[in-house]
Amino acid sequence: MLKTPAYAAAHAHAPLVPFTIERREPGPHDVLIDILYCGVCHSDLHQARDEWGGAIFPMVPGHEIVGRVTRVGAKVTKLAVGDLAGVGCVVDSCRECDACRRDLEEFCEKGSALTYNSTEMDRKTPTYGGYSKRIVVAERFALKIPAGLDAAAAAPLLCAGITTYSPLRQYNCKQGDRVAVVGLGGLGHMAVKLAASMGAEVTLLSTSPSKEADARRLGAHAFAVTKDESTFTRLAGRFDLIIDTVSAPHDYNKYLGTLRIGGTMVLVGVPPEPAPVAAMSLIWGNKRLAGSAIGGMIETQEMLDYCAAHGIASDIELIPIQQIDAAYERLLANDVRYRFVIDMASLESAAT
Ligand code: NAP
Ligand code: ZN
Ligand code: ZN
Repeated sequence: MLKTPAYAAAHAHAPLVPFTIERREPGPHDVLIDILYCGVCHSDLHQARDEWGGAIFPMVPGHEIVGRVTRVGAKVTKLAVGDLAGVGCVVDSCRECDACRRDLEEFCEKGSALTYNSTEMDRKTPTYGGYSKRIVVAERFALKIPAGLDAAAAAPLLCAGITTYSPLRQYNCKQGDRVAVVGLGGLGHMAVKLAASMGAEVTLLSTSPSKEADARRLGAHAFAVTKDESTFTRLAGRFDLIIDTVSAPHDYNKYLGTLRIGGTMVLVGVPPEPAPVAAMSLIWGNKRLAGSAIGGMIETQEMLDYCAAHGIASDIELIPIQQIDAAYERLLANDVRYRFVIDMASLESAAT
């Protein structure tokens, strides 16, 4: 076993503190990755504070991982020592079920092994995430970080990037489509960049008037404040597609009113509480309310290659791991521009 420094929460009300975990010795199909950077997703906070229930402690969060491959098993073909590699939200699945065969490993019928707050497929060994010095993962669940992408700015692509790229592709976002992105945080800022790169006319719907200049710089063509009720009447019937990235409770019915006939609103944000949807919000205008979870491994690699080809990465604020709790508080206070990324060198220096 490989003793590995990490940061963990002991329970839902505990701060994250130094913690030592063990990684398995890499098997024939595994790669060992020295983690350089790990993005801080709002899902890390939801889970470390057990807002979705069923959390497994101690918890080492982090599923936006980029690092250097330092060892490969004898049967590994996709990656070599020295390559930059990424790991996202899933580290294993049964690889045989219908979902796995359709390259939708996240929906594995046996239950995928999530990167943290989960177990390996043996259903016993806890998984630990990227707030750590290294990780061992089967090569099928490691991504190649294409040349030209900055390693730190690429880390958030492993969750925020794929979670917004996938629904834009599923709903065929194209030139001239009117797309609304709700919430300008980690996911939202990637949604704006990606939708704009696909030729959509992007409107950012935000609770924060101060984010307008940033939204336009990131590629939005219009910006509207959702605290202002007149926004919903002014934009009624406007959008082909809405990507809703909001992490807190809000009224879906109001946003559904801004869809065109036949339009689709895709939920990717996960507020801790359910919210009521009136049947008439969907019926009147043949509208669809959908959801989308991350993306399979093939689509994630496609997204990374797309981002490299289009010069797209995350706007980040690099933090040392010692500031992780402060970063969580800033996420809650809506004070992130637009993704915190942990510089894992800070963990090494803390551990020695
Ligand atoms: P984030 O960086 O904190 O961004 C969330 C944004 O939501 C904020 O920047 C804010 O934007 C808006 N917001 C916050 N509170 C709000 C409120 N009360 N009403 C309306 N808007 C509010 O979070 P993130 O990392 O992007 O994650 C967003 C959500 O997606 C989380 O719930 C996370 O768990 C979920 N997620 C889902 C998937 C998936 O596979 N579906 C993957 C990753 C994350 P404005 O200031 O512009 O309003
Ligand atoms: Zn995430
Ligand atoms: Zn499966």
